[in-house]
Amino acid sequence: MAGRLDLRNEFWFVTMAAPDFPNPNCTRLEFAMNGPANRNLVFAADLGGTHLRVALIDEEGRIHAQRKERTPRDTDAAGVVRALVEAARSCASEKGVNSSLIGGASIVVPGTVSKDNRTVLQVPNLPSLDNIALKPILEGQLGWPVVLENDANAAAIGEMWLGAARGHRSVICITLGTGVGGGIILDGELWRGADGSAGEIGHTSVDPFVGPRCKCGNRGCLEVFASATAIVRMTREELANHPESVLLSEGLTAKRVFNAGRDEGDQLALDVFKRMGTYLGVGVANLINLLNPEIIVIGGGVVNGWKLFERVMRQEVASRAFPLTAERVRIVPSESGDNAGLLGAARLAFDDRARQDLQSPPKVTRKQT
Ligand SMILES: [Zn+2]
Repeated sequence: MAGRLDLRNEFWFVTMAAPDFPNPNCTRLEFAMNGPANRNLVFAADLGGTHLRVALIDEEGRIHAQRKERTPRDTDAAGVVRALVEAARSCASEKGVNSSLIGGASIVVPGTVSKDNRTVLQVPNLPSLDNIALKPILEGQLGWPVVLENDANAAAIGEMWLGAARGHRSVICITLGTGVGGGIILDGELWRGADGSAGEIGHTSVDPFVGPRCKCGNRGCLEVFASATAIVRMTREELANHPESVLLSEGLTAKRVFNAGRDEGDQLALDVFKRMGTYLGVGVANLINLLNPEIIVIGGGVVNGWKLFERVMRQEVASRAFPLTAERVRIVPSESGDNAGLLGAARLAFDDRARQDLQSPPKVTRKQT
């Protein structure tokens, strides 16, 4: 139709140009990202086992309002839904934003989401959400289209959009937190797998013989060697063999172990991070040989110990991965930090918006020039 904006082409243009966004010379891109002018903010929520972090984010990744609160520990999902709805309203009112100005919402959870992104299948740290169709419930309460995604998948999107993986299209993101999460982007598209559970890098086996049983039931998962929980456990296990250590069993955290290694050269702390880096290197080498990524971004709280595990991790990668791919791949710490999941969530909401517009394009005519 003459004069009608071809949104089909615009969508593909957005997909291809996204890593370099914003492009000040591209008004068509701006239109496709924003849609009509009242869609330039989305509500993003990173629902963790301990904290709920929420923000209003614009299409350039700028955070306009941000809140962090304890995740409700209710035994049913209603408490979590109520907290999300109240947080969304608080964010909007804090910035004096009419909720009609918000183009959508995106919720990321530390667990498995169904392939159609409607239902939370399993969240070990928030079992009240298991098998809850959170998307339609929140859409009914908020009145906005809602995207539901795994948190590590969102972090990978966030790093590709505005973080360490900008400009790359084959990206693996490993999140070293309480557990170990993973997100895989192949040729610019998030790889969710046949059932939506792809990218569980923390539950790939790196040693079948040692270590405690993982919460997934397997033995020797990467998570039992490279998570914050693992850092604490491995330190505690070796304390008796290191009477000279400044570390004490009580009040032990991964951060304390890291500080003891960095600031005081504590041998036990250094040994624990060396062990952790060895196993992480095994896991990373497996990923390199399997997927040949351009870049692997490592995030989560444990990445603060980067200087303590980087060298041994790289040694392990160099000795195990194919030389050509191991030399090519960049292995870097996260640049978006705690905000990677929120930014990725926002980006997914904008992408969903663009997809909706494709299916029912707004009646807009191109401005005559
Ligand atoms: Zn496991």
